[in-house]
Amino acid sequence: MSIKRTLILCLFLLARNFAWAQEMTYTVSPVLSDTPYYHIELACRGVSGDSLQFSIPDWTPGYYQLMDYAAAVRNVQAKDINGNTLLCKKTGKNSWWIYNTSAAPVINLQYDVRSTRLFVASNYLEADRGFISPAGMFMHLKGHIEQAVTLTVKPLNGWSVATGLRPVPDQQYTYIASDFDVLYDSPILMGKLETFPSFDVQGKPHHFIAYRPREFDRAAFMKDLQKIINTAADIIGDIPYDNYTFLGIGSGMGGIEHLNSTAVSFTGGNLNKPEEKIRTYNFLAHEYFHHYNVKRIRPIELGPFDYDHGSKTRLLWVSEGFTVYYEYMILCRAGFTTPDEVLRALQNNIHAYESKPGRLLQSAAGASYNTWSDGPFGAGDSSISYYEKGPVLGALMDLKIRHETRNKYSLDDVMRALYREYYQEKKRGFTEAEFRSVAERIAGVSLAECFDYANTVKTPDYKKYFGYAGLDVATKDGSFAITRRKSMNTLQESILKDWLP
Ligand SMILES: [Zn+2]
Repeated sequence: MSIKRTLILCLFLLARNFAWAQEMTYTVSPVLSDTPYYHIELACRGVSGDSLQFSIPDWTPGYYQLMDYAAAVRNVQAKDINGNTLLCKKTGKNSWWIYNTSAAPVINLQYDVRSTRLFVASNYLEADRGFISPAGMFMHLKGHIEQAVTLTVKPLNGWSVATGLRPVPDQQYTYIASDFDVLYDSPILMGKLETFPSFDVQGKPHHFIAYRPREFDRAAFMKDLQKIINTAADIIGDIPYDNYTFLGIGSGMGGIEHLNSTAVSFTGGNLNKPEEKIRTYNFLAHEYFHHYNVKRIRPIELGPFDYDHGSKTRLLWVSEGFTVYYEYMILCRAGFTTPDEVLRALQNNIHAYESKPGRLLQSAAGASYNTWSDGPFGAGDSSISYYEKGPVLGALMDLKIRHETRNKYSLDDVMRALYREYYQEKKRGFTEAEFRSVAERIAGVSLAECFDYANTVKTPDYKKYFGYAGLDVATKDGSFAITRRKSMNTLQESILKDWLP
Protein backbone atom coordinates (compact mmCIF):
# COMPACT_ATOMS: atom_id res chain seq x y z
CA MET A 1 0.00 0.00 0.00
CA SER A 2 1.35 3.45 -0.94
CA ILE A 3 2.11 6.08 1.68
CA LYS A 4 -0.60 8.30 0.19
CA ARG A 5 -3.28 5.62 0.43
CA THR A 6 -2.20 4.76 3.98
CA LEU A 7 -2.50 8.42 4.91
CA ILE A 8 -5.98 8.68 3.39
CA LEU A 9 -7.06 5.52 5.21
CA CYS A 10 -5.70 6.88 8.53
CA LEU A 11 -7.55 10.18 8.05
CA PHE A 12 -10.73 8.29 7.20
CA LEU A 13 -10.44 6.14 10.34
CA LEU A 14 -9.66 9.21 12.45
CA ALA A 15 -12.66 11.10 11.04
CA ARG A 16 -14.91 8.08 11.60
CA ASN A 17 -13.74 7.84 15.22
CA PHE A 18 -14.38 11.53 15.77
CA ALA A 19 -17.89 11.18 14.34
CA TRP A 20 -18.50 8.36 16.79
CA ALA A 21 -16.79 9.92 19.77
CA GLN A 22 -19.29 10.39 22.52
CA GLU A 23 -19.04 13.26 24.97
CA MET A 24 -20.94 13.66 28.19
CA THR A 25 -21.02 16.89 30.14
CA TYR A 26 -22.83 17.26 33.43
CA THR A 27 -23.82 20.49 35.15
CA VAL A 28 -25.10 20.27 38.71
CA SER A 29 -26.82 23.16 40.53
CA PRO A 30 -28.05 23.10 44.12
CA VAL A 31 -31.58 24.46 44.57
CA LEU A 32 -32.74 25.43 48.06
CA SER A 33 -36.46 24.95 48.63
CA ASP A 34 -38.73 23.25 51.20
CA THR A 35 -37.40 20.00 49.83
CA PRO A 36 -33.85 20.83 48.69
CA TYR A 37 -32.66 19.23 45.46
CA TYR A 38 -29.94 19.34 42.84
CA HIS A 39 -30.87 20.24 39.29
CA ILE A 40 -28.91 18.13 36.84
CA GLU A 41 -28.27 18.84 33.18
CA LEU A 42 -26.53 16.34 30.97
CA ALA A 43 -25.41 17.15 27.43
CA CYS A 44 -24.66 14.02 25.38
CA ARG A 45 -22.89 14.58 22.10
CA GLY A 46 -22.22 11.96 19.47
CA VAL A 47 -24.98 9.61 20.56
CA SER A 48 -26.39 7.15 18.07
CA GLY A 49 -29.51 4.99 17.91
CA ASP A 50 -33.17 5.94 18.18
CA SER A 51 -33.58 4.82 21.77
CA LEU A 52 -31.15 5.37 24.62
CA GLN A 53 -31.29 3.83 28.07
CA PHE A 54 -30.00 5.86 31.01
CA SER A 55 -29.49 4.28 34.42
CA ILE A 56 -28.72 5.46 37.94
CA PRO A 57 -26.93 2.97 40.24
CA ASP A 58 -28.90 1.29 43.02
CA TRP A 59 -25.98 1.37 45.49
CA THR A 60 -22.60 2.95 46.01
CA PRO A 61 -19.46 0.80 46.38
CA GLY A 62 -18.25 0.77 49.99
CA TYR A 63 -21.77 0.73 51.41
CA TYR A 64 -23.17 -2.73 50.81
CA GLN A 65 -26.88 -1.95 50.81
CA LEU A 66 -29.31 -1.21 47.98
CA MET A 67 -30.19 2.48 48.30
CA ASP A 68 -33.00 2.96 45.76
CA TYR A 69 -31.42 6.22 44.56
CA ALA A 70 -33.91 6.29 41.67
CA ALA A 71 -36.72 7.09 44.13
CA ALA A 72 -35.25 10.60 44.65
CA VAL A 73 -35.10 11.37 40.90
CA ARG A 74 -37.82 13.73 39.63
CA ASN A 75 -38.84 15.60 36.46
CA VAL A 76 -36.77 13.67 33.95
CA GLN A 77 -36.94 15.43 30.58
CA ALA A 78 -35.00 15.15 27.34
CA LYS A 79 -34.67 17.44 24.33
CA ASP A 80 -32.81 17.13 21.07
CA ILE A 81 -30.36 19.69 19.65
CA ASN A 82 -33.25 21.77 18.24
CA GLY A 83 -35.12 21.94 21.51
CA ASN A 84 -37.71 19.32 20.54
CA THR A 85 -38.96 17.35 23.52
CA LEU A 86 -38.17 13.65 23.29
CA LEU A 87 -40.39 10.95 24.71
CA CYS A 88 -38.96 9.72 27.97
CA LYS A 89 -40.21 6.67 29.88
CA LYS A 90 -39.11 5.16 33.18
CA THR A 91 -38.69 1.42 32.84
CA GLY A 92 -37.65 -0.85 35.67
CA LYS A 93 -36.39 0.32 39.04
CA ASN A 94 -33.60 2.67 37.97
CA SER A 95 -33.69 3.17 34.19
CA TRP A 96 -35.18 5.64 31.76
CA TRP A 97 -35.57 5.20 28.00
CA ILE A 98 -35.22 8.28 25.80
CA TYR A 99 -36.72 7.91 22.32
CA ASN A 100 -34.45 9.87 20.03
CA THR A 101 -36.62 9.29 16.98
CA SER A 102 -34.99 11.99 14.85
CA ALA A 103 -31.61 10.32 15.62
CA ALA A 104 -30.24 13.71 16.76
CA PRO A 105 -26.50 13.49 17.51
CA VAL A 106 -26.89 15.74 20.57
CA ILE A 107 -29.45 15.33 23.31
CA ASN A 108 -29.89 17.18 26.57
CA LEU A 109 -31.23 15.39 29.59
CA GLN A 110 -32.46 17.18 32.72
CA TYR A 111 -33.71 15.96 36.06
CA ASP A 112 -33.81 16.82 39.76
CA VAL A 113 -32.54 14.77 42.69
CA ARG A 114 -34.19 15.29 46.08
CA SER A 115 -31.37 15.56 48.62
CA THR A 116 -32.45 15.50 52.24
CA ARG A 117 -30.39 12.85 54.07
CA LEU A 118 -27.06 13.83 55.62
CA PHE A 119 -25.08 10.62 55.22
CA VAL A 120 -21.91 9.57 53.39
CA ALA A 121 -23.90 7.36 50.98
CA SER A 122 -26.68 9.91 50.33
CA ASN A 123 -27.19 13.32 48.75
CA TYR A 124 -27.76 16.30 50.98
CA LEU A 125 -28.39 20.01 50.67
CA GLU A 126 -29.12 22.78 53.13
CA ALA A 127 -28.51 26.53 53.45
CA ASP A 128 -24.73 26.38 53.85
CA ARG A 129 -23.70 22.87 52.86
CA GLY A 130 -24.17 20.34 50.11
CA PHE A 131 -22.90 16.78 49.71
CA ILE A 132 -23.07 14.62 46.61
CA SER A 133 -22.71 10.85 46.70
CA PRO A 134 -22.28 10.61 42.91
CA ALA A 135 -23.67 7.10 42.36
CA GLY A 136 -26.96 8.48 43.65
CA MET A 137 -26.84 11.58 41.44
CA PHE A 138 -25.56 10.87 37.95
CA MET A 139 -27.07 8.63 35.28
CA HIS A 140 -24.89 6.76 32.82
CA LEU A 141 -25.76 5.56 29.37
CA LYS A 142 -26.42 1.85 29.88
CA GLY A 143 -23.43 -0.22 28.81
CA HIS A 144 -21.12 2.82 28.70
CA ILE A 145 -19.55 2.92 32.16
CA GLU A 146 -16.18 3.43 30.47
CA GLN A 147 -17.37 6.77 29.03
CA ALA A 148 -15.32 9.82 30.12
CA VAL A 149 -17.37 12.57 31.69
CA THR A 150 -16.92 16.28 32.45
CA LEU A 151 -18.71 17.80 35.40
CA THR A 152 -19.32 21.43 36.34
CA VAL A 153 -20.60 22.29 39.80
CA LYS A 154 -22.44 25.58 40.28
CA PRO A 155 -22.11 26.23 44.01
CA LEU A 156 -24.16 28.88 45.79
CA ASN A 157 -22.66 32.29 46.57
CA GLY A 158 -19.76 32.19 49.02
CA TRP A 159 -19.42 28.41 48.79
CA SER A 160 -16.37 26.40 47.87
CA VAL A 161 -16.18 22.88 46.41
CA ALA A 162 -14.01 19.94 47.51
CA THR A 163 -13.59 16.60 45.73
CA GLY A 164 -10.92 14.10 44.70
CA LEU A 165 -11.96 14.56 41.03
CA ARG A 166 -9.34 15.98 38.67
CA PRO A 167 -9.96 19.70 38.01
CA VAL A 168 -9.99 21.03 34.43
CA PRO A 169 -7.35 23.80 34.32
CA ASP A 170 -8.68 27.37 34.17
CA GLN A 171 -12.32 26.30 34.53
CA GLN A 172 -13.54 26.90 38.02
CA TYR A 173 -15.42 23.99 39.61
CA THR A 174 -15.13 21.90 36.45
CA TYR A 175 -13.76 18.39 36.76
CA ILE A 176 -13.06 15.41 34.58
CA ALA A 177 -13.52 11.72 35.32
CA SER A 178 -11.92 9.15 33.01
CA ASP A 179 -15.03 6.97 33.32
CA PHE A 180 -18.22 6.60 35.37
CA ASP A 181 -16.52 4.28 37.88
CA VAL A 182 -14.21 7.19 38.77
CA LEU A 183 -17.12 9.66 38.84
CA TYR A 184 -19.13 7.35 41.14
CA ASP A 185 -16.03 6.98 43.32
CA SER A 186 -15.58 10.74 43.84
CA PRO A 187 -17.90 12.38 46.37
CA ILE A 188 -18.29 16.16 46.32
CA LEU A 189 -18.58 18.40 49.35
CA MET A 190 -19.56 22.06 48.95
CA GLY A 191 -20.56 24.95 51.15
CA LYS A 192 -18.88 26.95 53.89
CA LEU A 193 -15.76 24.83 54.10
CA GLU A 194 -12.42 25.10 55.85
CA THR A 195 -9.18 23.67 54.46
CA PHE A 196 -6.64 22.54 57.08
CA PRO A 197 -2.89 22.91 56.42
CA SER A 198 -2.03 20.22 53.83
CA PHE A 199 1.01 17.91 53.98
CA ASP A 200 2.96 15.64 51.65
CA VAL A 201 3.69 11.96 52.12
CA GLN A 202 6.17 10.46 49.61
CA GLY A 203 5.77 13.65 47.58
CA LYS A 204 1.97 13.33 47.31
CA PRO A 205 -0.22 16.12 48.75
CA HIS A 206 -2.89 15.23 51.33
CA HIS A 207 -5.78 17.57 52.08
CA PHE A 208 -8.44 17.74 54.76
CA ILE A 209 -11.44 19.93 53.98
CA ALA A 210 -14.27 20.12 56.46
CA TYR A 211 -17.67 21.70 56.84
CA ARG A 212 -17.70 24.07 59.83
CA PRO A 213 -15.24 22.19 62.06
CA ARG A 214 -15.30 22.96 65.78
CA GLU A 215 -12.43 24.31 67.88
CA PHE A 216 -9.26 22.20 68.02
CA ASP A 217 -5.60 22.53 67.10
CA ARG A 218 -5.61 22.13 63.29
CA ALA A 219 -1.82 21.96 62.93
CA ALA A 220 -1.43 19.28 65.63
CA PHE A 221 -4.28 17.25 64.13
CA MET A 222 -2.74 17.34 60.64
CA LYS A 223 0.66 16.37 62.04
CA ASP A 224 -0.94 13.32 63.65
CA LEU A 225 -2.80 12.49 60.44
CA GLN A 226 0.46 12.68 58.52
CA LYS A 227 1.98 10.17 60.95
CA ILE A 228 -1.01 7.84 60.43
CA ILE A 229 -0.67 8.04 56.64
CA ASN A 230 3.09 7.55 56.76
CA THR A 231 2.62 4.43 58.86
CA ALA A 232 -0.14 3.04 56.63
CA ALA A 233 1.87 3.73 53.47
CA ASP A 234 4.91 1.98 54.99
CA ILE A 235 2.90 -1.24 55.32
CA ILE A 236 2.28 -1.50 51.56
CA GLY A 237 5.35 0.47 50.46
CA ASP A 238 3.67 2.40 47.64
CA ILE A 239 1.26 5.34 47.27
CA PRO A 240 -0.75 4.81 44.09
CA TYR A 241 -2.65 8.13 43.81
CA ASP A 242 -1.50 11.66 42.88
CA ASN A 243 -3.28 13.37 45.78
CA TYR A 244 -5.65 12.41 48.56
CA THR A 245 -8.53 14.36 50.14
CA PHE A 246 -10.45 13.81 53.37
CA LEU A 247 -13.93 15.33 53.11
CA GLY A 248 -15.36 16.07 56.57
CA ILE A 249 -19.08 16.38 55.97
CA GLY A 250 -20.09 17.40 59.52
CA SER A 251 -21.69 15.52 62.38
CA GLY A 252 -23.16 12.07 62.00
CA MET A 253 -21.97 8.50 61.69
CA GLY A 254 -19.96 6.75 59.06
CA GLY A 255 -17.38 7.07 56.36
CA ILE A 256 -16.90 5.68 52.86
CA GLU A 257 -13.58 4.95 51.25
CA HIS A 258 -12.63 5.94 47.71
CA LEU A 259 -9.57 5.66 45.46
CA ASN A 260 -8.14 9.09 46.31
CA SER A 261 -10.55 10.46 48.89
CA THR A 262 -12.82 9.53 51.73
CA ALA A 263 -16.05 11.13 52.93
CA VAL A 264 -16.23 11.03 56.72
CA SER A 265 -18.60 12.27 59.38
CA PHE A 266 -16.35 14.72 61.18
CA THR A 267 -16.61 17.85 63.28
CA GLY A 268 -13.35 17.53 65.24
CA GLY A 269 -15.30 18.55 68.34
CA ASN A 270 -14.15 15.48 70.26
CA LEU A 271 -10.43 15.78 69.47
CA ASN A 272 -9.83 17.53 72.79
CA LYS A 273 -10.82 14.38 74.75
CA PRO A 274 -8.02 11.75 74.66
CA GLU A 275 -10.25 8.69 74.32
CA GLU A 276 -12.47 10.29 71.68
CA LYS A 277 -9.39 11.48 69.81
CA ILE A 278 -8.13 7.90 69.51
CA ARG A 279 -11.58 6.78 68.33
CA THR A 280 -11.44 9.45 65.60
CA TYR A 281 -7.89 8.45 64.64
CA ASN A 282 -8.95 4.80 64.42
CA PHE A 283 -11.83 5.81 62.17
CA LEU A 284 -9.64 7.96 59.88
CA ALA A 285 -6.90 5.27 59.72
CA HIS A 286 -9.60 2.74 58.79
CA GLU A 287 -11.07 4.79 55.96
CA TYR A 288 -7.60 5.70 54.73
CA PHE A 289 -6.25 2.11 54.76
CA HIS A 290 -9.26 1.08 52.64
CA HIS A 291 -7.72 2.84 49.63
CA TYR A 292 -5.40 -0.17 49.71
CA ASN A 293 -7.57 -2.88 51.25
CA VAL A 294 -10.84 -3.08 49.24
CA LYS A 295 -10.23 -0.37 46.65
CA ARG A 296 -7.02 -1.89 45.24
CA ILE A 297 -6.33 -5.09 47.22
CA ARG A 298 -9.76 -6.47 46.54
CA PRO A 299 -11.97 -9.52 46.04
CA ILE A 300 -12.61 -10.19 42.35
CA GLU A 301 -16.34 -9.51 42.74
CA LEU A 302 -15.71 -5.85 43.70
CA GLY A 303 -15.02 -4.61 40.21
CA PRO A 304 -16.39 -4.15 37.66
CA PHE A 305 -19.33 -3.31 39.91
CA ASP A 306 -22.88 -4.46 39.31
CA TYR A 307 -24.51 -1.08 39.92
CA ASP A 308 -28.01 -2.52 39.42
CA HIS A 309 -27.98 -5.44 41.83
CA GLY A 310 -24.99 -5.01 44.15
CA SER A 311 -21.72 -6.97 44.05
CA LYS A 312 -21.69 -9.85 46.52
CA THR A 313 -18.47 -11.28 47.90
CA ARG A 314 -17.63 -13.78 50.66
CA LEU A 315 -14.48 -11.84 51.54
CA LEU A 316 -15.67 -8.76 53.44
CA TRP A 317 -14.11 -10.36 56.54
CA VAL A 318 -10.82 -9.53 54.75
CA SER A 319 -11.83 -6.22 53.11
CA GLU A 320 -13.57 -4.80 56.19
CA GLY A 321 -12.34 -7.05 59.02
CA PHE A 322 -8.63 -6.80 58.16
CA THR A 323 -9.07 -3.03 57.71
CA VAL A 324 -10.26 -2.85 61.33
CA TYR A 325 -7.24 -4.99 62.29
CA TYR A 326 -4.90 -2.63 60.42
CA GLU A 327 -6.40 0.47 62.04
CA TYR A 328 -5.24 -1.08 65.36
CA MET A 329 -1.80 -1.86 63.90
CA ILE A 330 -1.37 1.60 62.36
CA LEU A 331 -2.25 3.48 65.55
CA CYS A 332 0.05 1.28 67.63
CA ARG A 333 2.98 1.51 65.20
CA ALA A 334 2.50 5.28 64.92
CA GLY A 335 2.71 5.52 68.71
CA PHE A 336 -0.86 6.66 69.41
CA THR A 337 -1.89 3.50 71.28
CA THR A 338 -0.04 1.00 73.46
CA PRO A 339 0.22 -2.76 72.82
CA ASP A 340 -2.14 -3.33 75.75
CA GLU A 341 -4.74 -1.08 74.12
CA VAL A 342 -4.54 -3.18 70.94
CA LEU A 343 -4.98 -6.36 72.97
CA ARG A 344 -7.99 -4.77 74.68
CA ALA A 345 -9.53 -3.87 71.31
CA LEU A 346 -9.04 -7.47 70.12
CA GLN A 347 -10.47 -8.96 73.32
CA ASN A 348 -13.51 -6.68 72.91
CA ASN A 349 -13.94 -7.98 69.37
CA ILE A 350 -13.69 -11.59 70.60
CA HIS A 351 -16.19 -10.88 73.33
CA ALA A 352 -18.64 -9.18 70.95
CA TYR A 353 -18.42 -12.07 68.49
CA GLU A 354 -18.64 -14.82 71.12
CA SER A 355 -21.72 -13.13 72.66
CA LYS A 356 -23.72 -13.35 69.43
CA PRO A 357 -26.08 -16.31 69.12
CA GLY A 358 -25.53 -16.06 65.36
CA ARG A 359 -21.94 -17.34 65.77
CA LEU A 360 -23.33 -20.90 65.77
CA LEU A 361 -25.21 -20.29 62.52
CA GLN A 362 -23.24 -17.90 60.33
CA SER A 363 -19.58 -17.90 59.27
CA ALA A 364 -17.56 -14.75 58.56
CA ALA A 365 -17.76 -15.60 54.84
CA GLY A 366 -21.54 -16.03 55.17
CA ALA A 367 -21.86 -12.68 56.97
CA SER A 368 -19.89 -11.08 54.12
CA TYR A 369 -22.13 -12.55 51.45
CA ASN A 370 -25.39 -11.87 53.27
CA THR A 371 -24.65 -8.33 54.44
CA TRP A 372 -26.97 -7.06 51.69
CA SER A 373 -29.93 -8.52 53.59
CA ASP A 374 -28.58 -8.94 57.14
CA GLY A 375 -26.70 -5.64 57.46
CA PRO A 376 -23.05 -5.49 58.57
CA PHE A 377 -23.43 -5.44 62.36
CA GLY A 378 -24.77 -8.89 63.17
CA ALA A 379 -28.15 -7.74 64.41
CA GLY A 380 -30.69 -10.43 65.30
CA ASP A 381 -30.03 -14.00 66.44
CA SER A 382 -28.84 -15.55 63.22
CA SER A 383 -26.04 -13.34 61.96
CA ILE A 384 -22.62 -12.08 63.05
CA SER A 385 -20.55 -9.00 62.17
CA TYR A 386 -17.43 -9.18 60.03
CA TYR A 387 -16.35 -5.96 61.80
CA GLU A 388 -16.01 -8.07 64.97
CA LYS A 389 -14.86 -11.48 63.77
CA GLY A 390 -12.80 -10.10 60.87
CA PRO A 391 -10.10 -8.30 62.93
CA VAL A 392 -9.76 -11.37 65.17
CA LEU A 393 -9.23 -13.57 62.08
CA GLY A 394 -6.62 -11.02 60.95
CA ALA A 395 -4.79 -11.35 64.27
CA LEU A 396 -4.93 -15.18 64.21
CA MET A 397 -3.59 -15.35 60.65
CA ASP A 398 -0.87 -12.80 61.40
CA LEU A 399 0.29 -14.69 64.50
CA LYS A 400 0.20 -18.05 62.69
CA ILE A 401 2.36 -16.69 59.83
CA ARG A 402 4.82 -15.13 62.29
CA HIS A 403 5.01 -18.40 64.25
CA GLU A 404 5.44 -20.68 61.21
CA THR A 405 8.10 -18.48 59.60
CA ARG A 406 9.97 -17.95 62.87
CA ASN A 407 8.91 -14.31 62.74
CA LYS A 408 10.37 -13.72 59.29
CA TYR A 409 7.04 -12.94 57.61
CA SER A 410 3.69 -11.54 58.69
CA LEU A 411 0.26 -10.59 57.39
CA ASP A 412 1.89 -7.41 56.05
CA ASP A 413 3.75 -9.60 53.53
CA VAL A 414 0.44 -11.13 52.42
CA MET A 415 -1.09 -7.67 51.89
CA ARG A 416 1.99 -6.48 49.98
CA ALA A 417 2.00 -9.60 47.79
CA LEU A 418 -1.71 -9.17 46.98
CA TYR A 419 -1.13 -5.50 46.12
CA ARG A 420 1.78 -6.31 43.85
CA GLU A 421 0.47 -9.45 42.16
CA TYR A 422 -3.21 -8.61 41.75
CA TYR A 423 -3.53 -4.81 41.79
CA GLN A 424 -0.27 -3.85 40.07
CA GLU A 425 0.46 -6.83 37.83
CA LYS A 426 -2.81 -8.61 37.02
CA LYS A 427 -4.88 -5.41 37.48
CA ARG A 428 -7.81 -7.29 38.95
CA GLY A 429 -9.18 -8.66 42.19
CA PHE A 430 -8.49 -12.12 43.62
CA THR A 431 -10.71 -15.15 44.14
CA GLU A 432 -11.03 -16.81 47.55
CA ALA A 433 -8.68 -19.57 46.36
CA GLU A 434 -6.11 -17.04 45.15
CA PHE A 435 -6.23 -15.14 48.43
CA ARG A 436 -5.66 -18.38 50.33
CA SER A 437 -2.87 -19.44 48.03
CA VAL A 438 -0.96 -16.16 48.55
CA ALA A 439 -1.42 -16.36 52.34
CA GLU A 440 -0.24 -20.01 52.43
CA ARG A 441 2.73 -19.27 50.19
CA ILE A 442 3.91 -16.58 52.63
CA ALA A 443 3.18 -18.79 55.65
CA GLY A 444 4.95 -21.75 54.02
CA VAL A 445 2.34 -24.11 55.52
CA SER A 446 -1.36 -24.88 55.19
CA LEU A 447 -3.62 -22.30 56.82
CA ALA A 448 -6.59 -24.68 56.69
CA GLU A 449 -7.51 -24.03 60.30
CA CYS A 450 -7.56 -20.22 59.85
CA PHE A 451 -9.75 -20.59 56.77
CA ASP A 452 -12.03 -22.99 58.64
CA TYR A 453 -12.54 -20.24 61.21
CA ALA A 454 -13.54 -17.88 58.37
CA ASN A 455 -15.67 -20.29 56.35
CA THR A 456 -17.37 -22.32 59.10
CA VAL A 457 -18.78 -21.67 62.57
CA LYS A 458 -15.94 -23.59 64.29
CA THR A 459 -14.81 -21.79 67.47
CA PRO A 460 -11.25 -20.45 67.12
CA ASP A 461 -8.57 -21.84 69.41
CA TYR A 462 -7.65 -18.39 70.75
CA LYS A 463 -5.28 -19.82 73.35
CA LYS A 464 -3.12 -21.54 70.76
CA TYR A 465 -2.85 -18.56 68.39
CA PHE A 466 -2.27 -15.82 70.96
CA GLY A 467 0.15 -18.26 72.63
CA TYR A 468 2.42 -17.80 69.57
CA ALA A 469 3.10 -14.29 70.94
CA GLY A 470 3.44 -15.48 74.55
CA LEU A 471 -0.08 -14.39 75.48
CA ASP A 472 -2.80 -16.10 77.47
CA VAL A 473 -6.51 -15.88 76.75
CA ALA A 474 -8.75 -16.40 79.77
CA THR A 475 -12.54 -16.38 79.96
CA LYS A 476 -14.14 -14.87 83.00
CA ASP A 477 -17.90 -14.34 83.35
CA GLY A 478 -18.25 -14.62 79.59
CA SER A 479 -15.58 -11.94 78.93
CA PHE A 480 -12.23 -12.59 77.36
CA ALA A 481 -8.95 -11.32 78.76
CA ILE A 482 -5.67 -11.43 76.84
CA THR A 483 -2.68 -11.24 79.18
CA ARG A 484 1.09 -11.63 78.92
CA ARG A 485 2.64 -14.88 80.18
CA LYS A 486 5.26 -14.54 82.88
CA SER A 487 7.78 -16.53 80.94
CA MET A 488 8.11 -16.60 77.17
CA ASN A 489 10.54 -18.33 74.84
CA THR A 490 12.75 -16.29 72.51
CA LEU A 491 10.44 -16.73 69.50
CA GLN A 492 7.37 -15.63 71.46
CA GLU A 493 9.23 -12.60 72.77
CA SER A 494 10.39 -11.55 69.34
CA ILE A 495 6.93 -12.08 67.80
CA LEU A 496 5.26 -9.97 70.48
CA LYS A 497 7.86 -7.22 70.16
CA ASP A 498 7.55 -7.00 66.35
CA TRP A 499 3.78 -7.49 66.29
CA LEU A 500 2.98 -4.80 68.85
CA PRO A 501 5.96 -2.45 69.10
ZN1 LIG B 1 -14.58 -0.09 56.40
